[in-house]
Amino acid sequence: MSDSLPTIPVASAFADEVAQRVREVRDRIAAAHARGGHGQEVTLVAVTKTHGPEAVLAAHAAGVLDVGENRIQEAEQKRAALPDLPVRWHLIGHVQRNKAKSAVSFDLVHGLDSLRLAEALHDATQAASRTCDVLVQVNVSGEASKFGLPAAEVPAFAEQLRAFHSLRVRGVMTMAPFDAEEAMLRRVFAGARACAQDVRAAGHAADVLSMGMSGDFEIAIEEGATHVRLGTILFGAREG
Ligand SMILES: *Cc1c(COP(=O)(O)O)cnc(C)c1O
Repeated sequence: MSDSLPTIPVASAFADEVAQRVREVRDRIAAAHARGGHGQEVTLVAVTKTHGPEAVLAAHAAGVLDVGENRIQEAEQKRAALPDLPVRWHLIGHVQRNKAKSAVSFDLVHGLDSLRLAEALHDATQAASRTCDVLVQVNVSGEASKFGLPAAEVPAFAEQLRAFHSLRVRGVMTMAPFDAEEAMLRRVFAGARACAQDVRAAGHAADVLSMGMSGDFEIAIEEGATHVRLGTILFGAREG
């Protein structure tokens, strides 16, 4: 179309690059699913933290419908800039209790790791007459630097969560240690899968297993991941 408006070169080059990376990642997701996998469907969550709204737009243009952010304030700015974009917003980072009111506006909160946070989220949902979908964050490896509940505490925690009617416990989220050996990654991811089973055993309709990042998503899928959270591999390295 010769008479169409000129496109903005920088923006479109970035969007093209993201679209290309999304295609490559989808191929790798499909291959991992074919090699292993547990019959699950895999959702690609594009982690746009530190990048601007244009990263969300580029991901959406490439067919990605799920976006992950780890800081509430940063996410709120992007959501305000893109009010009508039909994507699901995932809060993947640690949630402070004083941010519960904002947190419950996300489509899925991945970082539920304490009873006090469950109480705060529950109060916020009640105040807003809404429900909130949450994942129990599990620290399978026991790394001190990671947030999350020890795996052994998940059954009792899941049992306690039944009292919070407006929180819908959809499954489990975990982060593997950075740069771990494959055997360790498999142990962590299989451990998280067992925790999701514990959550189901407590009576929750929990079908989500959020695990796998840019460096380990294929192993995570082989171990049953339903949601992989990918930033660097789609958008390049983050600053800071
Ligand atoms: C940043 C982040 C990711 C994405 O990490 P990449 O290695 O850039 O893919 C995934 N999950 C959580 C919780 C994160 O904070």
